[in-house]
Amino acid sequence: MGEGEYPGAGPAAERAGTPPAETVPVAAGLPLDPSPAQAEALLERAATLVAALFDGVGERPVEGDAPDPELIAGLLADRPGAPVHTDDALATLMRAVAQGHESRTGGHLAYIPGSGLLTASLGELLASASNRYTGLQAPSPGAVALEAGVLGWLCELFGMPDGAQAVLLSGGSMANLTALVAARERQAPGEPHRATVYVGEQAHASVRKAARTIGILPEHVRVCPSADGMRLDVEAIRVLIKQDRADGLVPTAVVAAAGTTNTGAVDCLPALADLAAELGVWLHVDGAYGGFFQLTERGRARLEGIERADSITLDPHKSLFLPFGTGALVVRERSSLTEAFGEDADYLRDLPDPAQLPDLAELTPELTREWRGAKLWLPLKLHGLAPFVDALDADLDLAAEAHDALAAMPGVTTCGAPDLSIVGFRVPGDDAAQDAALAHVNAEGRVRLSSTNLEGQVVLRLAVLSHRTRRHHVEYVLDRVREVVTGA
Ligand SMILES: *Cc1c(COP(=O)(O)O)cnc(C)c1O
Repeated sequence: MGEGEYPGAGPAAERAGTPPAETVPVAAGLPLDPSPAQAEALLERAATLVAALFDGVGERPVEGDAPDPELIAGLLADRPGAPVHTDDALATLMRAVAQGHESRTGGHLAYIPGSGLLTASLGELLASASNRYTGLQAPSPGAVALEAGVLGWLCELFGMPDGAQAVLLSGGSMANLTALVAARERQAPGEPHRATVYVGEQAHASVRKAARTIGILPEHVRVCPSADGMRLDVEAIRVLIKQDRADGLVPTAVVAAAGTTNTGAVDCLPALADLAAELGVWLHVDGAYGGFFQLTERGRARLEGIERADSITLDPHKSLFLPFGTGALVVRERSSLTEAFGEDADYLRDLPDPAQLPDLAELTPELTREWRGAKLWLPLKLHGLAPFVDALDADLDLAAEAHDALAAMPGVTTCGAPDLSIVGFRVPGDDAAQDAALAHVNAEGRVRLSSTNLEGQVVLRLAVLSHRTRRHHVEYVLDRVREVVTGA
């Protein structure tokens, strides 16, 4: 099928606003390398679709199209073969994304919201279009330098000393895993079967998954009690570590949360840093949800002690509003990563040695990697830092206000004033009453809350983390909860 032939152009061409087929250089059968005119036409179509994706996104309902069984079945059965018309393929893609939740809207107050920034998507497009190889610095010194600049900023943001290093990964799970490998290699080299790690019962599931994945025996993942149902009991960990050491095991890492996923609670980081220093274990802080509140004054106060961690997980695709696919890890000592992940490869012998730039492949399990630096760098440049700080500050304000309003409702109990931006609460009644309240709040699909289990009870969660959440979104939730409470 050559360029200029348009099978399947019929229905697409009839669609309103679609130029006549003869003038469309992007019909079916695009060559692998489109001409510049075709490239522009493709990107124009993408521009139209992307602009529509972001138009009024903050005010959209959370519930998108109800799953269309026919579409789903068609997609599952879809196989590559003859080319289809560009407009038809793009229309299918857009129908697929319309199914299910709109995670980017300001009404998304469930789980951990992910809002997505257009400017990050633009950075991602340019990164993949240039397809620079960034596993090593020699082939792409410019691209690696651009990423290394952002990485240096991350280290400074968390008060790390010279010799610290940050890396970008696919998400918080991979950051937690990478941190635990570094900790294991430092603390228990050659004897992973004796390594123990200490995680809170409120720790994110990815921490236990990471420990298992890297070969820590399941019975050596100590799930430690909480002092108050929400935060790690430091003294309990001390007892466990001493006992494990006496039993000939190798206490390796304590994993603290800078904001748990359940309630946003921040573990007592200064006391945990003291404990880790005293007992000689690695302190990893999981800040996948809460880490970037460090950008705000209140956040810095709440996260005090994080600067003493050996490693910190961050998720720019949560608290820096990036589209999904970008996590980060900050480590106090670069050498902890190179010791864990550095390898010499004979077939790279003709590449020059690193200058002041890092070979990123020596710092994580990945070799060839997406150039993630671009999608983090571009938004920070185009918007400047202030809008990020303001958005996080606004999220802190909204969560605090929501907490106070909920606490003032008769019979409503809360998990306490939020450390960061997640409010846990219960309406009067049993667990079934919580589920009913949740269904009532979510019924219209305008907002979405979620729930969790805390100390054997269902707890409702209001998680404010989008830069698109406005006061009226939170007020809508409060009005619905009030209806539940007053039986209106
Ligand atoms: C989301 C989250 C993770 C996992 O991060 P992903 O980016 O989903 O892999 C880890 N820890 C906490 C506290 C989280 O909120």
